[in-house]
Amino acid sequence: MYDVVVVGGGPAGATAAEDLAKAGHKVCMLDRDGRIKPCGGAIPPRLIEDYNIPDAQLVAKINTARMISPTGRQVDIAIENGFVGMVDREHFDEYLRGRAQSAGADRCTGTFLRIERDEAGPKVIYRDKQTREERTLPTRLIIGADGARSDVARAEVPGGDTIPYVIAYHEIIEAPEAVSAYDPTRCDVVYDGAISPDFYGWVFPHGRTASVGMGTGINGFDLKKATKDLRFASGLGECRTIRHEGAPIPLKPLERWDNGRDVVLAGDAAGVVAPSSGEGIYYAMVGGTVAATAAQACLASGKAADLKLARRLFLKEHKTVFRVLASMQNAYYRSDDRRERFVSLCHDIDVQRLTFEAYMNKKLVKARPMAHLRIGLKNLAHLTGLVRAEYV
Ligand SMILES: Cc1cc2nc3c(=O)[nH]c(=O)nc-3n(C[C@H](O)[C@H](O)[C@H](O)COP(=O)(O)OP(=O)(O)OC[C@H]3O[C@@H](n4cnc5c(N)ncnc54)[C@H](O)[C@@H]3O)c2cc1C
Repeated sequence: MYDVVVVGGGPAGATAAEDLAKAGHKVCMLDRDGRIKPCGGAIPPRLIEDYNIPDAQLVAKINTARMISPTGRQVDIAIENGFVGMVDREHFDEYLRGRAQSAGADRCTGTFLRIERDEAGPKVIYRDKQTREERTLPTRLIIGADGARSDVARAEVPGGDTIPYVIAYHEIIEAPEAVSAYDPTRCDVVYDGAISPDFYGWVFPHGRTASVGMGTGINGFDLKKATKDLRFASGLGECRTIRHEGAPIPLKPLERWDNGRDVVLAGDAAGVVAPSSGEGIYYAMVGGTVAATAAQACLASGKAADLKLARRLFLKEHKTVFRVLASMQNAYYRSDDRRERFVSLCHDIDVQRLTFEAYMNKKLVKARPMAHLRIGLKNLAHLTGLVRAEYV
């Protein structure tokens, strides 16, 4: 009998399993294994610090973000006093799972099938990867951390089957030796309706490789063509393609993360990815931590209501940033004119400071006196078209 079975061993599940094992709980982490999570792999310093990520996991360190507008205007934002880390999910996820195991979590490899319940409590039923047989994990609680389109969320939590998504697609390519348009220490973020009509495209260096991709929520949009166009526009058209893959990115956190009984969700399964950026690794790990905290509270009190703590703790810290990012996405990702204005706005040193502090350290900082007001007015002026987009 486990205290907690964690379904999914990505950043959310591995973090939850590690936290619970460290707290002395009997925990099992189930992951189906065998597929590398499609991901740009960008992680902020706050994650590296809070979750003790060793330097060896970082395949690149990024010191500039280049914002590119529909007309090809570029704004380079220097990342001062730090860097954005890049991880390869093939190794990063396994590193996190190994850490959970070292802390005392059991690991099972197989596919989650369903949850059954009897008078002894819930049981997680899965198909073992090696034997192909159905196995049973009796437990007191379950953490559903099985990613976007989570089977646990769909079966157990209201709304878990209707989370809105964008589909993100990327190609992992061999990084070029020397191409003037490519810099292995710079991330390019491309705001252009031809590449993505409602999200953005990216070129993220990963040391010897790079991730080039885009996302969209629009059905029928040709993701492969857009990515090919982006590669050619970035001077990367001739690079060898190592892998290409796509996956959904959830757009909105669920109203409920628990089933009021014995299940709580974490990470993509709960719909938790930052609007505007699609950043999910940090928020998945925080989701794992708060789910583990809620599970511990519930195990100690015997009260299912304590599972609600996960969502409450998460939103307490991140609600405002999510709200700001969502309104940014709503305002600026609608048309090329708006995207042009958005990139133009990125020239502003206070905008750079605010957005980067929000990304790097997950804090809304106090800007210079009057800066918030000035940015607000400038924002309004851009949206109403009172000022023209400034070009460099
Ligand atoms: C193309 C793309 C690019 C992205 N780029 C970035 C980026 O640069 N930076 C960033 O921060 N975020 C990025 N994201 C988002 C980020 O990848 C996710 O938000 C993050 O991986 C969520 O972590 P998670 O642990 O919740 O889910 P996942 O990482 O999806 O992990 C879920 C785990 O559950 C397992 N699982 C699923 N179903 C079952 C089952 N039935 N049985 C057993 N196990 C199961 C899977 O094997 C997997 O290990 C990107 C996403 C995409 C699609």
